[in-house]
Amino acid sequence: MSPTPVYTVGNAKVARVTDCEIDAFTLSDLLPDWGDAHVPLLDRLPMTVSADCQRIVLSIHSCVVWLGCVVWLGGKIILIDTGAGNGKSRPFAPYFDQLSTPYLARLKALGVTPEAVDYVLHTHLHVDHVGWNTRLIDRRWAPTFPNARYLFSAKEYAFFRDPANSDNRHRTSFQTQQDSVTPIVEAGLADMIIVDGQEWIPGFSFHSTPGHSADHASIVLESAGAKALFSGDVFHHPVQVMAPHLLSIFDPERETTLTSRIWALDFAVDEGAMLFSAHFAASSAGMVSKRDGEYSWTFALQ
Ligand SMILES: [Zn+2]
Repeated sequence: MSPTPVYTVGNAKVARVTDCEIDAFTLSDLLPDWGDAHVPLLDRLPMTVSADCQRIVLSIHSCVVWLGCVVWLGGKIILIDTGAGNGKSRPFAPYFDQLSTPYLARLKALGVTPEAVDYVLHTHLHVDHVGWNTRLIDRRWAPTFPNARYLFSAKEYAFFRDPANSDNRHRTSFQTQQDSVTPIVEAGLADMIIVDGQEWIPGFSFHSTPGHSADHASIVLESAGAKALFSGDVFHHPVQVMAPHLLSIFDPERETTLTSRIWALDFAVDEGAMLFSAHFAASSAGMVSKRDGEYSWTFALQ
């Protein structure tokens, strides 16, 4: 396995911590408007689809951020989203059911123990973004990062507290709250925030990018004049950078999602921000550029 790339954003370092990869969806499963006209876009993205170009490869991962100097001089370690987690019962999402991945070993290989994590930041509270919040200890779901504050949207949390929202589409997310979010709240480790663009911890602001979930946030890191955008599920595949209208089956609010996506693309272009996607395969990170009204994507080198 090749070494994990570590990217520099101002005085911060960023690396991906892989939980798993899934290829559960064909292109047209995930992107209902997918058509022959889009096929040439894949020529530049061969590592993001299966060998027969029929199935999309989705990476499920966290990003770890080292902010500032070394820890004993005030530096912080931040995780953004926490993958799907091990040993969790997901009967309605079989690709996340009873996983057993070396996520924590991968984190440790980067020099990060669970106890060293200062903050866990969430773009939203879906099954593949909160799983490693907890792990099974003595048959109870205990916080994986016991010394961290976990920050997420109060509005998103409230959505999953309301039984009126517990329909078929949200059944896995509701189940997820029980083993991966509620234990964090009960342990007193949660800081529920308002997603309105403000900075909740030094260097990190939460920006409203609704459409995919009840109160989806894109997280911006700013350090020494450089910026990075952690876009959560505003995108699932890099073809959506080049063809932003290709919404996924997980984006129920079509116009809202598209508006959020264009905001994220323009932010990345205008600010020169490296974009850390939540699900792109390959390096998951890259740069967006815009020419003659068309966006394009370039993966950061491995
Ligand atoms: Zn996701």
